[in-house]
Amino acid sequence: MYFFGLDIGSTTSKCAILGEDGTRLVATSLVTAGIGTAGAEQAVAEALAAAGLTPEEVSASAVTGYGRHSWKKADYEASELTCHALGARLVFPDVRSIIDIGGQDAKVISLDAAGRMNGFLMNDKCAAGTGRFLDVMAAILQLPVSALGDEAAKSEKPAAISSTCTVFAESEVISQLSSGAKREDVIAGICRSVAVRTAGLAKRQVLNAPLCMSGGVAANAAVRQALSEELGMEILYSEQAQLFGAIGAARLAWQKHRK
Ligand code: ADP
Repeated sequence: MYFFGLDIGSTTSKCAILGEDGTRLVATSLVTAGIGTAGAEQAVAEALAAAGLTPEEVSASAVTGYGRHSWKKADYEASELTCHALGARLVFPDVRSIIDIGGQDAKVISLDAAGRMNGFLMNDKCAAGTGRFLDVMAAILQLPVSALGDEAAKSEKPAAISSTCTVFAESEVISQLSSGAKREDVIAGICRSVAVRTAGLAKRQVLNAPLCMSGGVAANAAVRQALSEELGMEILYSEQAQLFGAIGAARLAWQKHRK
């Protein structure tokens, strides 16, 4: 028996397959094409192939993510909040707070000791403080977004990025680079800026430890470190953070099927 979760995001489609016990991760896939593309279909095909399964061998499936309404083939559908919480708790069983930074929004999710959601906050109005901000800056710097964290780590004096709007920050970054600022300092400033924005959102809610990150931006160690400093809290990190929504969806399919 296998349980399948699909997370159709704004930039990336993710899949996870869990085994019969609802905890063993059998296979995952990640395709950098999200809503409105063939990314979801490809992610499903890749995860099934990685697990050596046919679609008929999947007992139940669930879909989540911003693009979930466009996918009609799943047995269940659930919000990103629910699925990120379920996925995070599977990897970090005691986690009480989750900061999810994806391609177009950021969310802060609070859980009680039993894992039930008891609060959330979201920024989906402004690209600053989301992966979109980092994608725009990486394009200016002609770097893959995955390289920003390592570049930032070389900085000894992060540049101050004062603009709170992505469009103005873009001009500010170009102007700093053209006035001779070190690339690594500008990149560290960019990462810190995302962390400061997210911390501003997170501080509006009581954050209980343990705290973890989910979403694609969690892979950026400079953002994680700056966010941890801003909040004065340790941040748990798993390399599967970007897959937490998909893992949570698979877990939900398992729970529903069991009932
Ligand atoms: P969505 O579900 O909206 O597609 P994700 O949670 O998948 O969002 O996160 C996508 C964002 O994560 C991208 O916009 C990008 O900025 C960031 N990202 C993706 N991969 C990496 C990586 N390897 N290192 C750092 N950041 C990454």
